[in-house]
Amino acid sequence: MANQPLGARPRHSRYDVVIVGGAAVGSAVAWFLSENPDFTGRVLVVERDPAYTYASTALSASCIRHQYSNAINVRMSLFGTEFVRRFREIVGGDAPEITLHEFGYLFLAPEDKAYILRDNHAVQRECGAATELLSRDEVQARFPFFQLEDISLASFNPVGEGWFDGYTMMQALRARARENGVEYVTNEVVDIARDGNRVAAVRLVTGETISCGVAVNASGPRAAKTARTAGLIVPVEARKRCLFVFDCQTPLGMTMPLTIDPSGIHCRSEGRYFLAGTVPKPDAAVAYDDFDVHYSEFEDEIWPTLAYRVPQFEAIKLVNAWAGHYAYNVLDQNAIIGPHHEVANFIFANGFSGHGLQQSPAVGRGVSELITYGEYRSLDLSELGYERVVSNTPFREQAII
Ligand SMILES: Cc1cc2nc3c(=O)[nH]c(=O)nc-3n(C[C@H](O)[C@H](O)[C@H](O)COP(=O)(O)OP(=O)(O)OC[C@H]3O[C@@H](n4cnc5c(N)ncnc54)[C@H](O)[C@@H]3O)c2cc1C
Repeated sequence: MANQPLGARPRHSRYDVVIVGGAAVGSAVAWFLSENPDFTGRVLVVERDPAYTYASTALSASCIRHQYSNAINVRMSLFGTEFVRRFREIVGGDAPEITLHEFGYLFLAPEDKAYILRDNHAVQRECGAATELLSRDEVQARFPFFQLEDISLASFNPVGEGWFDGYTMMQALRARARENGVEYVTNEVVDIARDGNRVAAVRLVTGETISCGVAVNASGPRAAKTARTAGLIVPVEARKRCLFVFDCQTPLGMTMPLTIDPSGIHCRSEGRYFLAGTVPKPDAAVAYDDFDVHYSEFEDEIWPTLAYRVPQFEAIKLVNAWAGHYAYNVLDQNAIIGPHHEVANFIFANGFSGHGLQQSPAVGRGVSELITYGEYRSLDLSELGYERVVSNTPFREQAII
């Protein structure tokens, strides 16, 4: 079944679970459900773009870190690292190995921001992450290519942080979910019909109405559009993030960890090249189909800042660039996971704000537990629930890249 072409029309008119969006998050939910012997329902995944051309999952930098300010994010990513490391063993069948390239993240802070790294470090260590605090001299000794006069403290974690092939992980989960009986269709959910405080059915762009027991919103940057079709709101916007690949005339002689400059600009080694990005100014919502690269970000901001931080970067050449969309939670830049407070069979898995690929295993596991048992059984994700949207109470993640 896994190798059959995707069909536009579902085989049945009723499913226990309909998942809107079949990329990293939708496929993780589908796979975890399909593996759980306590879940015996029928699952449909509706995906409008089966080549995933514009999915965040395909346009991601695909890195994982444990350096967050909120313990729940540290724990979700610790599980993400374990899942990636043991992927073949956990997923089974002919699942590929997913290699984790552990180069670590390096956060740099000036004196007046050093307390943030200290506070975050305490949270991370408490959760079991291996983050170390480094003085300026210690950073200089490990990474002699940096210019660090303005830096007083850094945090660095070379254990379990780095790059993994999230796209291959998603494809493998999707294939295994299909083998387990989950149905994927190439189609678009254009409407979600309610019967009072229940989601009753989804309507597809091809005209079919499919009744469902539970609807899961896994539609990435389009999360608000999907929620709106059910008459619900979720504070998620599509925000453009451009990534730039450049070559440096003088090699650094060692791997550059994923370095977060105090300006917010990030950069790391990518084989013999380097990958960099920043938060655009202004950082406004964009149209769902706007993927134009803003080259001025590189010329005017990224390059000058990096050339100060790493003097060898004075002589570089841009070799590639692309733009993707963050599903940006404007309330607090944290994921929104769990049921709507009134429409309890509509489940959000949205607003990952740039860290959803690494969190997708924890989200898939958590949402599948909610659907199967009505509660979290492994990691409690309720801090990320929808209630904070209703009460307008941000649960802010400070370490957003
Ligand atoms: C430039 C960039 C860098 C990033 N770097 C990292 C990183 O280093 N680490 C990390 O963990 N995360 C990173 N992220 C974030 C990460 O990629 C996302 O959080 C993650 O991929 C989200 O997965 P998703 O399945 O929720 O969304 P998506 O991958 O966007 O998938 C949503 C899917 O839903 C489908 N869909 C939408 N609406 C409908 C509908 N109505 N009907 C049917 N289908 C629909 C879409 O076609 C899409 O395939 C980055 C993102 C970007 C853009």
